[in-house]
Amino acid sequence: MTKKVAVLGSTGSIGNNALNVISNLAQRLDLWGISANTNWQALADQARRFHPRFVSIGDGSCRERLARALPEMASRIVPAADFVEMAAQEADIVLVAIVGAAGLPPALAAAKAGRRLALANKESLVMAGGLVMEAARKSGAEVIPVDSEHSALFQAIQVGRPRDVKRIIITGSGGPFLGRDAGDFGRITVEEALSHPIWSMGRKITIDSATMVNKAFEIIEAHWLFGQPADNISVLIHPESIVHSLVEFSDSSVVAQMSLPDMRLPIQYALTYPDRLPSSVKPLDLADLPGLTFRKPDLDRFPCLKVGYDVARLGGTCGAVFNGANEVAVAAFLDGRLGFSGIYGVISRVLDRHTNAPVDTVEAVFDADRWARAEAEKCLQST
Ligand code: MG
Repeated sequence: MTKKVAVLGSTGSIGNNALNVISNLAQRLDLWGISANTNWQALADQARRFHPRFVSIGDGSCRERLARALPEMASRIVPAADFVEMAAQEADIVLVAIVGAAGLPPALAAAKAGRRLALANKESLVMAGGLVMEAARKSGAEVIPVDSEHSALFQAIQVGRPRDVKRIIITGSGGPFLGRDAGDFGRITVEEALSHPIWSMGRKITIDSATMVNKAFEIIEAHWLFGQPADNISVLIHPESIVHSLVEFSDSSVVAQMSLPDMRLPIQYALTYPDRLPSSVKPLDLADLPGLTFRKPDLDRFPCLKVGYDVARLGGTCGAVFNGANEVAVAAFLDGRLGFSGIYGVISRVLDRHTNAPVDTVEAVFDADRWARAEAEKCLQST
């Protein structure tokens, strides 16, 4: 039986990989719909190549251009808000591959509707992990992580029972500045920060990897996805990115998931779970590799990692505040308005000024998000 898949954020790095996975598994997966925010040209190309039933573009000023580029699909181009609702009702699997806070409403809609939520957007769990997981629990929706580390954890955890999990170990390549002197961080350029040694990703997540905000987010994601307290979550630097994460059980047995670094694998697993199907991912030959290395992360040089633990412990609105402040700081860094070390500076100052509150509604999350963005802008103006 084929499953209908909606890919939200189809023109990004995860989205492109997802479309390739879906077209390689056409007997199992049917591309129900694709959406993008502004990149109407790439979206139109994908529509012509992959023949989804529905197409949607978020940015209003691009709608006209998309319609002109796809006259044959005119009746199947739907407004963004309708697309999210339709996907939650009609698709079997909703892959949320949108970057940033914009991923939260569709993730929540899919979780409420009881669809399988294949979640690549980490901000939705960082901002509102409690809301998303609670909605999924109520509706029976499956939340299957697409992030490589969480896919690894999701796979490894199946070896034992949830109550026997002692510790979750998230690996990270360490990003481009692993070996760089801390005193030199102020001179890091945008170009240097954008060149990740292993993964080719979008700009925002590449900067998040360089500051290790990405790993901090992954601690928070793991906390919500697997119901583990922050104290049971460790980070392990593993520059070769072969071991994608590990689970330690109560008997001290450690189960790891490994592969060559290729996002098509976690994407495919989230779409075909619990089945494992042949993929185009190159097989792993451990004897071929120069060696695997592991070390502890340096929390003094990468203080954003500490923020991840604090936020996972505190819960409430500080996840949304962490994310909102980070988005503003990263955009300012990319624009040349803020130095690399200033990203942590902005995040910590905004979190210091924040009064944490419980998260009961999505409105509370977005209120905290707006507050954090405004505070972050104030910080930028005062520096
Ligand atoms: Mg990751």
